Amino acid sequence: MTRRPPVWDLTFQHDDVDSKLVAALERLAQALRVLLWRVGQTHGLSPIQVQFLCYLLYQPEAHRRVSRLAQAFRLTKATVSDAIAALESKRLVRHRPDVSDRRSAVLELTPDGRRLAHRLAAWADSIRDGLSFAELDEKTAVLNFLMRLIVELQRAGFITVARMCLTCRFFRPEAHPGASMPHHCALLDRPLGPATLRVDCLEHVGVETVVPAGPSGQRFAL
Ligand code: SF4
Repeated sequence: MTRRPPVWDLTFQHDDVDSKLVAALERLAQALRVLLWRVGQTHGLSPIQVQFLCYLLYQPEAHRRVSRLAQAFRLTKATVSDAIAALESKRLVRHRPDVSDRRSAVLELTPDGRRLAHRLAAWADSIRDGLSFAELDEKTAVLNFLMRLIVELQRAGFITVARMCLTCRFFRPEAHPGASMPHHCALLDRPLGPATLRVDCLEHVGVETVVPAGPSGQRFAL
């Protein structure tokens, strides 16, 4: 295959939809970085410390371990441990012995950490508010496109953790052909449609390979 010019080569990019998509995603990633940095600066925290506090606020105990954080944020355990140590020194996070595994420890928010995490958790809400210009159908189509993109990036190894229906052992694509909610979750025993597919499901159990093509011929009948 002929190698295309880089995404950032504007003479090429202007006429190439794929390159423009990547450039647009980069702009969005920058907006998220700026928001995270701003909220962190307001509270004397680094962006990753903000993310860890929000993660610890909403994730169940089984996921609140250094190794899980390292996996979820694609960081080394040493980097996670340093950030957690900084949060401990601010009395926002503490370690608790794991009763089921003495070699392990569960991370939990202190009361101060919990109060702060509740405030920090709104850091991306302004972007969500900015989506009000679009209709639900349009947003659902974008959501499904992005989920498929995440699957591809996960396959390529650029994303490690993505607990989405599309990569879940319990996902049954096109279990209800012709219905408005054509898919099914075999664990929760409920139909799933384009707008109800989950992006980050606590019940998710990954499969080695993504779900097979449905009868429509698409890989996923989204
Ligand atoms: S368990 Fe969660 S991720 Fe898996 S199919 Fe059901 S809703 Fe989707």
